[in-house]
Amino acid sequence: MTEFDFSAGQVGEKCAVFGVFGQSLDVARLSFFGLYALQHRGQESAGIATGNGEAICLHKGMGLVSQVFTEELIESLKGHVAVAHNRYSTTGGSKVKHAQPMLGAGNSKLQKVDYGDTSPSLLDSISLCSGADDDAIALVHNGNLPSTTLLSEFLREKGIGTPEFSDSRMIVEAIAAFMREGHDLKESVRRAYPLLTGAFSILIMSKDTLIAIRDACGIRPLSIAQLNGGYVFASETCAFAPIGASYLRDVEPGEMVIVDEKGLRSEQVAAANPKLDIFEFVYFARPDSRLLGKSVYDVRRNCGIQLAKENTIEADVVIPVPETAIPAAIGFSQATGIPMEMGLTKNRYIHRTFIQPEQHIREQGVKAKLSPIKQIIEGKRVIVIDDSIVRGTTSRQIVAMLFEAGAKEVHFLVSSPPVKFPDFYGIDTPKQSALIAATKSVEEIQKFLGATSLRYLSYEGMIAATGIPEDQFSTSCFTGVYPIDIRECSKEIRY
Ligand code: AMP
Repeated sequence: MTEFDFSAGQVGEKCAVFGVFGQSLDVARLSFFGLYALQHRGQESAGIATGNGEAICLHKGMGLVSQVFTEELIESLKGHVAVAHNRYSTTGGSKVKHAQPMLGAGNSKLQKVDYGDTSPSLLDSISLCSGADDDAIALVHNGNLPSTTLLSEFLREKGIGTPEFSDSRMIVEAIAAFMREGHDLKESVRRAYPLLTGAFSILIMSKDTLIAIRDACGIRPLSIAQLNGGYVFASETCAFAPIGASYLRDVEPGEMVIVDEKGLRSEQVAAANPKLDIFEFVYFARPDSRLLGKSVYDVRRNCGIQLAKENTIEADVVIPVPETAIPAAIGFSQATGIPMEMGLTKNRYIHRTFIQPEQHIREQGVKAKLSPIKQIIEGKRVIVIDDSIVRGTTSRQIVAMLFEAGAKEVHFLVSSPPVKFPDFYGIDTPKQSALIAATKSVEEIQKFLGATSLRYLSYEGMIAATGIPEDQFSTSCFTGVYPIDIRECSKEIRY
């Protein structure tokens, strides 16, 4: 018999997590709408696990939330506790075995949860329920562990082979191993916590308890809301309004929050050293979310205002690259008086182009995603604003597209500094050699893009735009300063 969902391979998890606990709540339906609001954080696969006090049931599959779940499936997922996940993919491993939630077996009689004779890698979706005696747990993870040495050593000592496990799979296995030694879920999570080296915002459930943990730096966001006597957890606060939940607070860096029939309790499991990834403000989060008490929209608009303070350019029109850069372009336009127009239209049914692992497909993807509006561009000196340049592939095509549409000049403005270092904490960026700013000067990048001029927001300007002290952030993509030890990955970095 094959075990379920093992061998996820070394793929990072760049994702959204969502969780609910509440006796009177339709937890599967709430999870569905929560995932819907968090779709921007991952489009490869989606999954929901629910617990009803007796067993855990799970459905997960490839595709968007709306493609993975039907009314019938949502109806079938019963219970008062749930965890849910959207996965973001970049590497070739687009298979349902990488999808989350991931299950583990906490029962001392079972080594692994046994899900019958299916081969998950051949399937597009998986639907199953644990047995009542399985003592199953389900885990969802946003983040990435750059080092899994401690975890794999621990698992090897316990006789659990790890060669093909993803970091998330290792975490669920470690917690389950402690449970099989007789510890309850909370104690098992507490014991597994020091084995985790990296960024993690994690939700773990048993059939009747929900636990949230965040790494000591709180690199990835995780917030809590209240709803009809129950609690909701989400990667971003934008998931709360659509389900009528009211924001309570964030899960603090280094904190473990436990929700069960006794209510919500918390304990600090590691000394906090708050360092939210600033790239959440730059690119990843939705503009209607709040991070560290600040509106993502406001911060992005401030970046645009700051760009205007730092650069004087004669131009006729400001055009944002939709959608992330829109608030920055609004700020820039308001500060300079240069009118903003939506000169590039985005086909909103094409997902983020980064998701395509292969360069050729990615290049086609840009054209399918963006098209210029000729009468806005023709004969004009255009300022185009984007939130970041990573590989330069998209930006280059946008410049070409604007010239083809008749622009006289194309000034490319970026509302963040050059991305020179890869991310190891769960936002996908390519290897350092593929980051254009790691190998080329601003002038060389300008030539590569074919732009009339190229300006980046200064690092100091970006920090000022957040209104938050620099020491509260992880700025690794820009500075190469990694607040959580990246251990073996440091070999991949050149300064
Ligand atoms: P490129 O010109 O190919 O470097 O692409 C830049 C575009 O990628 C910008 O529009 C960014 O909004 C977007 N972007 C930045 N970081 C990421 C990421 N981690 N995943 C997907 N897209 C990203």
